[in-house]
Amino acid sequence: MLRLTGQPTERAFLHKVMEMSGQDLLDCLQCGKCSGSCPIASETVAGPRRLIARILAGMKDEALEDATWWYCVACGTCAGRCPVEINMYEVATALCEIAEAEGVKPSEPDIHLFEELFLKSVQKTGRVRELQAVMQYNLRTFHPFKDMVPGMKLIFKGAISPKEMLPGGGSDPKVARIFSRLAEKE
Ligand code: SF4
Ligand code: SF4
Repeated sequence: MLRLTGQPTERAFLHKVMEMSGQDLLDCLQCGKCSGSCPIASETVAGPRRLIARILAGMKDEALEDATWWYCVACGTCAGRCPVEINMYEVATALCEIAEAEGVKPSEPDIHLFEELFLKSVQKTGRVRELQAVMQYNLRTFHPFKDMVPGMKLIFKGAISPKEMLPGGGSDPKVARIFSRLAEKE
C-alpha cells in the first residue's frame, strides 16, 4: 500500500527505515490498534500509528523529531496487536540510529542522562530502583522537587519503597554477564 508523495530523498528515508528495522511499513493499514494500546501514547505523544504515517508520507524531519520513538519502552504491545505484525520497537531503534548519525537532538533533552541512570541502576542492583533513579535524575537536571507529589502518592500506595534509598542489593550475576558481553562488543 504505497502512499508516498515525498521527494526522492524522502522516499529514500522510508526505505532506509524499512531496511534498518526489518519492518515492512508499506503493509501498515493505519488501523490504530498499536496507538490504542501503547502505554506512552498521550496528548503530547501521538503514538506509533501517526509516526508510521509520517514515515510513509516521507516526512523525515517530523518523523525524526516525533516524541513517540524517543519514549518507546519496547514493551511489544503494538507488535502483539498489529494485524500485519509490525514491530515498532525495531522502527524506534532504526530512527534512533539515524537521528544519532545525523545529529538530531532528542525531543526530551535529558533523555540520555535518564538512560544512563536507568542502566547504572540495573547494572548495580539487577533491576531499576525507580525512586533512586528518578531522584538522581531530578537532582542532576536541577528540578529536585519535580516529582515529589506523585512520588509521595506512590510511596503511600506501596508502589515504590523508600527502602530503595538504603545501600545494599548486590548485582545479579546474569545481569552482570549481559553487561560484560555488551562491554566486550563495544
Ligand atoms: S497496528 Fe499495525 S497496521 Fe495498525 S496502524 Fe499500527 S502498525 Fe499499522
Ligand atoms: S513497543 Fe513502544 S510503540 Fe509499541 S506499544 Fe510499546 S511503547 Fe508503544
